[in-house]
Amino acid sequence: MFYFDPVYFLFALPPLLLGLWAQFRVKSAFKKYSQVATQSGITGAQAAMKILQRGGLSNVNVEMTRGMLSDHYDPSHKVLRLSEDVYNLPSIASVGVAAHEAGHALQDKKDYFPLTIRSAMVPVVSIGSWLGPILFMVGFFMTGMLGTFGTSVAWAGIILFGATALFAVVTLPVELDASRRAKELLVSQGIVSQREMQGVNAVLDAAALTYVAAAAQAIMQLLYYVMVMNRRN
Ligand SMILES: [Zn+2]
Repeated sequence: MFYFDPVYFLFALPPLLLGLWAQFRVKSAFKKYSQVATQSGITGAQAAMKILQRGGLSNVNVEMTRGMLSDHYDPSHKVLRLSEDVYNLPSIASVGVAAHEAGHALQDKKDYFPLTIRSAMVPVVSIGSWLGPILFMVGFFMTGMLGTFGTSVAWAGIILFGATALFAVVTLPVELDASRRAKELLVSQGIVSQREMQGVNAVLDAAALTYVAAAAQAIMQLLYYVMVMNRRN
């Protein structure tokens, strides 16, 4: 049973720990800089609207949504949804997150290539992320009964899950670019000062690390599947 394969933990544990550490850093940086007010007094919602307007995106609505750190840009409805704290508070953390989401709206407008690929992959990934591992396991355990057909099913699962790993990798440039745009625009549009950027960087860099950890997790899981198949041959 590879469930209890100690090698699995060798693959899974490091990215898992990185992910937990990154999550912890996001939450603590967000909490810390939610309590630091922007000198300009600008809230997250105001920062997002300002950036969108200057970017020629006054058609994009900024709305409030429930749930902590549930902030996202919805490209299909052209709506930027900000969590309550981010929307309402004039804090360093709020304007940082809001500007990042506005960065995604700007990517959408400019047909930023990694975002286009990422959006196109969503339907495959929404199935592959759960069906891939199931097919792999079914194929792997049934090979005794099914023979080479089982092996084919296992490889189909690996390929399907591979799309999930690729998705996590393509997400990286999308997220890093949104944060890069956010940092640039916050200063150039006078929303925060150069000195206040330290807090913005702390929040956005921690968030970027969670995406690195997610990509590492997916890649390591994929490599583990491939290794298990090769080991058996
Ligand atoms: Zn993002």
